[in-house]
Amino acid sequence: MVADIQNISYEDFRKTLVASFSSENVAQIDRAYVLAEEAHHEQKRKSGEPYIIHPLAVAKILFDLGMDPPSLETALLHDVVEDTPVTLDEIREQFGDVVANLVDGVTKIGKIPLSTREEQQAENLRKMLLAMSQDIRVILVKLADRLHNMRTLQYVPEPRRREIARETLEIYAPIAHRLGIRAVKEELEDRAIMFLDPVAYKEISDQLAAQSTTRNEFLEDIKSRIRKRILPICGDAEIEGRIKSVNGIYRKMYIQNKNFDQIYDIYAVRIIVDTVTDCYNCLGIIHDMFRPIPGRFKDYISTPKPNMYQSLHTTLLSREGLPFEVQIRTWEMHRTAEYGIAAHWKYKLGMDSGKEKPEMRMAWIRQLLETQNSAEDVTDIVAAIKNDLVPDEIYTLTPKGDVICLPQGSTVIDFAYAIHSAVGNRMTGAKVDGRIVPIDYQLKNGEIVEILTSSQQGKGPSRDWLNIVKTGEARNKIRMWFKKERREENIVEGKAELERELKRSNIRLSDEAYQQFIADLAARYHCKDADDFYASIGYGGLVISRIMPHIRDEYNKLAKTEEPLPELKPTSKQTKRSSEGIVIEGIDNCLVKVAKCCNPIPGDKIIGFITRGHGVSVHKRDCTNVPKDIAHCAEPERWLNAYWDADIKENFCATVHIACIDRYGLMADITTVLANMHVMILNVYTISDKSKHEVTGIVLTLSVSSIEHLKSVLARLNKINGVEKITRN
Ligand code: MN
Repeated sequence: MVADIQNISYEDFRKTLVASFSSENVAQIDRAYVLAEEAHHEQKRKSGEPYIIHPLAVAKILFDLGMDPPSLETALLHDVVEDTPVTLDEIREQFGDVVANLVDGVTKIGKIPLSTREEQQAENLRKMLLAMSQDIRVILVKLADRLHNMRTLQYVPEPRRREIARETLEIYAPIAHRLGIRAVKEELEDRAIMFLDPVAYKEISDQLAAQSTTRNEFLEDIKSRIRKRILPICGDAEIEGRIKSVNGIYRKMYIQNKNFDQIYDIYAVRIIVDTVTDCYNCLGIIHDMFRPIPGRFKDYISTPKPNMYQSLHTTLLSREGLPFEVQIRTWEMHRTAEYGIAAHWKYKLGMDSGKEKPEMRMAWIRQLLETQNSAEDVTDIVAAIKNDLVPDEIYTLTPKGDVICLPQGSTVIDFAYAIHSAVGNRMTGAKVDGRIVPIDYQLKNGEIVEILTSSQQGKGPSRDWLNIVKTGEARNKIRMWFKKERREENIVEGKAELERELKRSNIRLSDEAYQQFIADLAARYHCKDADDFYASIGYGGLVISRIMPHIRDEYNKLAKTEEPLPELKPTSKQTKRSSEGIVIEGIDNCLVKVAKCCNPIPGDKIIGFITRGHGVSVHKRDCTNVPKDIAHCAEPERWLNAYWDADIKENFCATVHIACIDRYGLMADITTVLANMHVMILNVYTISDKSKHEVTGIVLTLSVSSIEHLKSVLARLNKINGVEKITRN
């Protein structure tokens, strides 16, 4: 049960200071008090009291924990920078770096919007607060600050009151527990429960109060009986009796669902002795005096708790049948149990003439790291405290107070992608603690990061970001974006590649059939549509050479089952001349086209192929698209004999490639020869060697009437000086 705590005057507080510290230290604390008193002069607490009551009470709590003068000065000054015109620089000037840095740390933690929506969130916040405090005294001042605020929480209106109580229970009490400060932990918890569940709190405290006389008598009786047996052996033993904290009972009643009477350790007797041997001796005596309850003995001396707590615990049954717990420990264990990390200042530095050695300050933590065992919550605290020593993770916040945990060295870009890839992809810049920062800014513990984004579509990450980001997550998400955004390009590329391969494999389909064929393939390869399928080929997700055998099989199956195309079905053996001057054997009056791949001209040996929907296409017999062995190819029935009509008058296109040695007037000579022979040039382009700025080849598409005509033209061109070799495509 929490007791009311009276305000103390500075005069009274000062008396205790004088008894503990040097006059210089007291003078310094005096100056901190005077500055705080003046700075807060106009302000009042919500209770209506002068504001200075609060920093003074915080200093008192820290003094009782045994903290050093800089901690007390910090306590007195902790709200000055945030709430009054006094600046951090002024504090640094008057009180030095240590106090200024402590005040700064407390102010920064105060600015963090703590929200306790989820378990994980609370866990992150606790870790963050520990990690943020390079100097653990920052956390101790903050805990004392929170403790005093909890003592005066009734003046804060709802719902804020409830929020603060929850935050206390979920963030600050566990931190106090981790740091081993039992008194602060229990008071924080009990006061939080008082506001969060007033009905249960009252029920428990009423039950405790109702029989307080009987309970106290019971405890006194047990204590005196123990004392009689133990004093002859350990003369200095201290024996205390106490009643468990409200929160301890509350948890057992409401979380473990036990009756008030089923809670064994409402009563606890504590025996404090000088040595570890005495502890075990006392245990033997106690077990001889009372009946131990099986399964309730715990040896935290040989196996300390993660927060360094050590004691022997055992639960016994009194003659009256009432269970009670006995804790046995040495004085040193007792200090650690009560004050945890703060014990360090109280009992070690205190003796060291108040002179602080930084390496000593972390001794407790180091000791903890050395003695930790493999229990689960040990890894937690070790991870948290390790961060304090060698930080490899940082904790940053969104403006709403969500904690984002990132590896050391992470930038604002990593932060943006940790929130969501959409945030990263639309990021244009960032603000850290309200200031605009460069895009490669490396984040530090406790910074509040706001990502600036553009609503514009199509903006997007920059390739440079890949070199800036620290996390694999951000890197992957940026790569994903590029893969996705280059989709159009991938589709075009993939489509072209596929079509090239289909052609090479003689896979020819009408538009409609082709679309169905591709749609089937897409589904087969788990692509959602044809474009997706092309895109996959385009960026190499599907390797064309690997999928072609399967595509050929599919095509062959399709070709076998498909109905013959009626309009192209040979109707008679009659042969007739087509519009192109080409005769197709067995086909009459159908669309005939000269194939673009080889452009056959009269005189070439040719062959026809029944396309799906585009009539017959005519190729040179030795075209690469024509199977060498028609009889044994995939669909021999689609290949038809074809030949040139003897009477043809039409002109044909032929494309020739002239390898040449460049000279002035070469092009003019070529065109003159062609003009003299009445040959039309349908297309011309040159191939040049860029390194020498020379033309090395000329490609001409000419209109000729027959193969004989073409041969004579080429013979003439061959005679031109500079023409090395002419080949026909
Ligand atoms: Mn405060």
